[in-house]
Amino acid sequence: MPKKSNFAAHIVQWQRQFGRHDLPWQNTTDAYKIWLSEIMLQQTQVATVKTYYANFLQHFPDVNALAAAPLDQVLALWAGLGYYSRARNLHHCAQTVASQWQGRFPERPEQLITLKGIGASTAAAIAVFAYGASAAILDGNVKRVLSRRFGVDAAPSAANDKWLWGIAQRELFNAADAKALDMNLAAGLKSYTQGLMDLGASLCSRSKTLCHACPLQNECAALARGLVADLPRKKAKTIVPIVHLTFFIYRHNGRLWLEPRPAAGIWAQMYAFPENAAHMHAAQPKALPAMSHKLTHRLLKIEPWLIDVSSEEALTFSKNRAGVWIASENQADFGTPKPVQDLINHLFSI
Ligand code: SF4
Repeated sequence: MPKKSNFAAHIVQWQRQFGRHDLPWQNTTDAYKIWLSEIMLQQTQVATVKTYYANFLQHFPDVNALAAAPLDQVLALWAGLGYYSRARNLHHCAQTVASQWQGRFPERPEQLITLKGIGASTAAAIAVFAYGASAAILDGNVKRVLSRRFGVDAAPSAANDKWLWGIAQRELFNAADAKALDMNLAAGLKSYTQGLMDLGASLCSRSKTLCHACPLQNECAALARGLVADLPRKKAKTIVPIVHLTFFIYRHNGRLWLEPRPAAGIWAQMYAFPENAAHMHAAQPKALPAMSHKLTHRLLKIEPWLIDVSSEEALTFSKNRAGVWIASENQADFGTPKPVQDLINHLFSI
């Protein structure tokens, strides 16, 4: 592999002048807040995360508060952010930190990575931002920047990731960079890590790339070879399987019946409409418009049916089935997946 270049110095100089400095989770060394933001930012836009982040901190100001909360409450606050396994892992991780690390996140990436939901790149980001550690990150944005700048022209694979990790480690901001820029090493590492994230989210984004303003334009292999739009190479398209679901929406007196989903599978442990019809119900089901909902590896085709049940039937539900009758006032207490929430909003608005 070639020697380290001046990549890190360019990133730091650019970040200090043009990068983001006032995101709500910046300017803190509180590992809990940094961890929370890093998990929320996975596959989610900054603008969306800001609201959820503030709301979570209001309910759970520290890791012990989050660990002590019931999972249902965490899922309810997470509802709408998607990728719900993140919320379950978040809760599990908080409980581990509270019980095994005395409520303080460990400092080293190799310790952080043992916690549920924390991968290698997230562990490095937490260690850098909270503790000033010397660790390389490699999330989707950083892979794109490195692939383009260093001309990594290969289909996504474990071997390609390994190669990119090698580049990320080789190019990491180090003591020589700190000396050349006359700055503190830990401050430089934070600026460098943030700079990589900022560049990948702005100038070197997937489609609206702005190379003319990029601090790497004179050395960028993709730009020199006319490959900016082609790198990083994409995975061959796979056919997304379609999953058909039927929702039976039982309604009584303006309230709707929800049941917790099983612990494994789609939307595990969240509240949703039953997928099986109850044995009893005298009323004729009414078809609501069909819906589609895209998950990472599946396309859901949902057929919702609305059934108005009598008081007697409603009582049988409460007695015989695990679930709750929700009204518009208490709906926020139950974490529901997006299509279920859309139906709830629709039915409470008519
Ligand atoms: S020059 Fe363009 S493609 Fe290269 S790193 Fe900068 S923004 Fe990305």
